[in-house]
Amino acid sequence: AKDAAAAYKSSDADGAGPATAFDNILSGKWPSDKVYEDDTALAFRDINPQAPVHVLVIPKIRDGLTKLSCAREDQEALLGHLVYVAQSVGKKECPEGFRLVINDGEHGAQSVYHLHIHVLGGRQLGWPPG
Ligand code: C5P
Repeated sequence: AKDAAAAYKSSDADGAGPATAFDNILSGKWPSDKVYEDDTALAFRDINPQAPVHVLVIPKIRDGLTKLSCAREDQEALLGHLVYVAQSVGKKECPEGFRLVINDGEHGAQSVYHLHIHVLGGRQLGWPPG
């Protein structure tokens, strides 16, 4: 995540950001295990799951949302929609409860600079996180 944050900083001062792995997933160039899709959001299974259920919810168009802290006021509805989609996936796949996580920046251990909400569940999760 530190390398990713450094690469992001050096190549992206304005929040536009370089392409990420998620562009390849969105374009269909790379396969993904999709669990939900609509006009603005895509949910797919994480390739390196940290729990029995580990789904990522992303905006289909990044529009500067390299990370949550790049959010603009006009993106409030989109952010709300992504959270709504995330709870809907969590409720369906983890009836006993789940966790939503958004890693932001270097200290947040973010590694992919295209906003994503982790939906984690299917086992008892610990707290606090590392
Ligand atoms: O929050 P963070 O940026 O660290 O999370 C990125 C997530 O994207 C990781 O959990 C990683 O396993 C996942 N990933 C993926 N498919 C890729 C690249 C990354 O599911 N091709």
